[in-house]
Amino acid sequence: MICADGVSPLGTVATLPSMRSQRGGFPWRTVPVALAVMISLVALASAPAAHAQTGAEPQAEMEAEMQAEAKSMRLFISPHPDDEMEGWAAVDEVRPSAYTVFITLTHGEATGYCQPAVLAVSLQADLGERPPNPTPAGKFSPTCAQARIDSWLAFHDGAAAVTSSAKIGAAAGTTLTLGPVPGLPQPTNPHASIGATRAQAWIGPRGARLALDLGDGNLTTAEVQWAIKAVLALRGGALPNLPLSTMIAASYVNKADDGAIPYAHPDHIAETDAVKSLAGLAGDGGVWIATSPYDDRADEAFTLSKSDYKVLMGVSSTLQKRKGAHQVAFGWLTRGYWPTGKLPLAETEVIFPRQATFRYVSNPGSAGQPPA
Ligand SMILES: [Zn+2]
Repeated sequence: MICADGVSPLGTVATLPSMRSQRGGFPWRTVPVALAVMISLVALASAPAAHAQTGAEPQAEMEAEMQAEAKSMRLFISPHPDDEMEGWAAVDEVRPSAYTVFITLTHGEATGYCQPAVLAVSLQADLGERPPNPTPAGKFSPTCAQARIDSWLAFHDGAAAVTSSAKIGAAAGTTLTLGPVPGLPQPTNPHASIGATRAQAWIGPRGARLALDLGDGNLTTAEVQWAIKAVLALRGGALPNLPLSTMIAASYVNKADDGAIPYAHPDHIAETDAVKSLAGLAGDGGVWIATSPYDDRADEAFTLSKSDYKVLMGVSSTLQKRKGAHQVAFGWLTRGYWPTGKLPLAETEVIFPRQATFRYVSNPGSAGQPPA
């Protein structure tokens, strides 16, 4: 039932291993920049040891870094239009001043929740769930794809109430044609509603939202590589001409650990493999890939405040009214409501946690240092 992709968790309940200790340290530029943006004495007092090693930077240098970051671009990429919360905790943490392009690689048209008989049971509008618009006519139907992108936009609008870097500013919808990309085949999608080389786009002054149509359930690593390169090729045209500083992959995968919620959707694996392979395109911010909190390769975790998580994922305690942006927008994509909690655990079936854990892959060609 998770992620509305038609792949169920294996559901094994295991004794949880101890939460691995988080390795200290962000990539070397992240902490000073985040601190400068927040201008918070409290944050300064609680900065990780990595900051202390760099020493206090002169004000002018910090301001120069902030200006450079604001003149960069970052990509926040999800495979399906409902995966965002798997990595949302990083949105206001990793290069938050950059011009952000929020990308869904597919329209999510393969979900069984677009079947009218299923929707009749899953949609609980009386509890605050936003009805899909248009009403889906069935799995793989164009109306299913349209409804999922409509929900995706509604989530972003709601999330922007507490996630400042999700505010893209005024943007009118348009459709873009992407590619070709040298060295990579054009993508295909047998169920495409707008075309595998086209994207719906909402481009604002501070960020953009792009909905690609690469195929729910048939995404490949090469297609995701094509998508990233094709989007970056829009710079200087539909998108501002800014250097890429980082990529965040909200594409949870866990194939190894029994304690964390298992998830091995091939579209998610295709995205994580592609983003990792293209770390060399990112600037000194490298790439961040959502993973299990028990992943030995994990480098860092970001945690949403309880109040922000409530705005994003909240459900009222008595009547179970859907309050959070994700619950309201994507409530029709599950029976009941989406489980909530701090970590993505198998026993709680939480896949959209308050704390998101990431693997960090540095750009091998940059001067940036990987986490300790
Ligand atoms: Zn997904």
